[in-house]
Amino acid sequence: MAHALRLRTDLDDLAVFRAVPPLAGITRLDSNELPYGPLESVRAVIAGSAERLNRYPDIGITALTDALAARYRVGADQVAIGPGSVGLCLQLVQISCGPGDEVIIPWRSFEVYPTLARTAGATVRTVPLTDYDHDLDAMAAALTERTRLIFLCTPNNPTGTVIDARRVAEFCRSVPADVLIVLDEAYWEFTGELDALDGVEFVKRQLAAGRRNVVALRTFSKAYGLAGLRVGYAIGAPEVIDMLRRVGLPYAVNSLAQAAAVASLSAGDELAERCRQVTAERDRIRTHLMKLHYDVPLSGANFVWLPLGADAARFKDHCAARNISVRAFPGEGVRVTVGDAAENDTLLDAAAAFQLS
Ligand SMILES: *Cc1c(COP(=O)(O)O)cnc(C)c1O
Repeated sequence: MAHALRLRTDLDDLAVFRAVPPLAGITRLDSNELPYGPLESVRAVIAGSAERLNRYPDIGITALTDALAARYRVGADQVAIGPGSVGLCLQLVQISCGPGDEVIIPWRSFEVYPTLARTAGATVRTVPLTDYDHDLDAMAAALTERTRLIFLCTPNNPTGTVIDARRVAEFCRSVPADVLIVLDEAYWEFTGELDALDGVEFVKRQLAAGRRNVVALRTFSKAYGLAGLRVGYAIGAPEVIDMLRRVGLPYAVNSLAQAAAVASLSAGDELAERCRQVTAERDRIRTHLMKLHYDVPLSGANFVWLPLGADAARFKDHCAARNISVRAFPGEGVRVTVGDAAENDTLLDAAAAFQLS
C-alpha cells in the first residue's frame, strides 16, 4: 500500500510561478526584459568563458564583488552576489525568518515575495497599495513583535510607481533598527528624472549613522539585459552580507554570469544609452495611451501599468489575438513591458482597437 509522503502541508496552496514560454512570432511584452540582446563586447566575454565550463566558477565571486565594491565605493564585505536578485530575496528571508515570523509586503507587488516568505515558514502580511504606490503609513502600522523583514519595491512591479525619496527615509526611521528593510531596485536604472531614492547611497548614509538594517537589491536582469544569466546583488551592512553568503548555495552564480556582469559594468555608457531609448519609448507609449483614454500611472521602470480592472483579462486576450503577450492580473490590470519602437507600435495599434468599457 502506498503511504502518503510526509511533505509540508503548509505549502499546499503555493502557486507555481509561470511565465509564457518563448514562442516564435510572438511580441513578448510580458516579462520586463530588455528588447536588445547582449552587447557585442559582453557576448565575446561570454563566448570566451564558455571554453572553461568544465571548471567550477569562482566560489567567492571575487571579480564581480570587487568591481561592484569599486563602482559603489563600498567594502567588498558590503556586497553579496546571488543567482538573480530573486535568489537574494530568498536568502534575505532565510537569514531573518523562521516559522511564525512575519514579512510585510506591499500588494500588489512582485509576485515572488509571498512565495519566498512562505517557503521559510514565515507569515505574510500584505498591505494594499494606495494610488498604485506603497502605503507606507499602513506598512508601518502592520509592524508587530514578530516582524523580521519588510520589502519595498521601487519602482514597484507591476505598477511602475517610484516611492518618493523623502518618504522612504522617513519610513526607515520609523521602523525598529532590528527589522530588515529591503529596497528592491530591480528597475533603478530606468528611474531617470523621477525623485527616486538611490538605495545604495541611502544604505551607505544609514551605515554611517549607525543603522544597519537597510539592504539595497539590484540586478543585471533588466537594464543590463542579462535576464537569462541570472545574476543580481545586494549592498548592505557587513553582518547582513556575511549571513547572505552563508546561506547562499555554493556555485549558484555561474561563471558565464560572473564574467558577463563584470564586462557589463565596464560597458556602462552603451547600456545607459539603451536605457535612455527604453525610457523615451516608455514615455511615448504612456502619452499615446493616455490620448486613447487609458489611465496610465507615471512609471519609473521599463513597463507601464494599465489599471483596467474588469477589462484586464479581455485586454490580454485581445493582445494575444494579435500575437502580443502582456501580463494580466485579472480584475486588477495589465502590465506592458516597453519593447523596441516597432513592438511598441504594434501594442499601441492593439490598444487603439480595444473597446474600453
Ligand atoms: C525582475 C525583478 C527582479 C529581478 O529578478 P532577477 O532574479 O534578478 O532576474 C527583482 N525584483 C523585481 C521587483 C523584479 O521585477
